[in-house]
Amino acid sequence: MPSLLGWRNDKIVRLDKFHPNLLNEATRIMNQSWETLVVFAPNFEIWNTKEGTKDEIHLSVKERHQLRDQYILHNHPIPGPFSPKDISICATYGIARAYLIEPNGMLSVMEKPTKGWPKQLMFLSEDPMMDLYMLAMSGDLEGYDLQLERIAYEFKIEYWKVKIQ
Ligand SMILES: [Zn+2]
Repeated sequence: MPSLLGWRNDKIVRLDKFHPNLLNEATRIMNQSWETLVVFAPNFEIWNTKEGTKDEIHLSVKERHQLRDQYILHNHPIPGPFSPKDISICATYGIARAYLIEPNGMLSVMEKPTKGWPKQLMFLSEDPMMDLYMLAMSGDLEGYDLQLERIAYEFKIEYWKVKIQ
């Protein structure tokens, strides 16, 4: 069982506000050396789990379309925030909420804006995503984090992190 306290920015957050299925799954896949995707219905009932390799998870067209309006969780075996591809998948398939767990226990959350995901975020060739992609390629993690925060702010995407362990 994960501990009941986490940190959001500098503040302590009670983790019992998170659904136990989410916390259990996040803890289970956190230190795997391959990526796993868990798809939850919005009541946190688990309805699909898919395992991938160390840096990707292959989804069929049908599986992708089944992501619409669901909550998804995946892990990054190598620590790092949501990738440009993660964001474009959220935008393209209308994911309601995306959780990411890193091996250090950092849980990030991105939530679909009230008006829906902006179309620009579907395409890596659009300006805000192109910048993100270039920063990822250059290995500038600080710049990447900053750009991600900027995108979230600009498009009113709820984006935050909490450390669960
Ligand atoms: Zn990812």
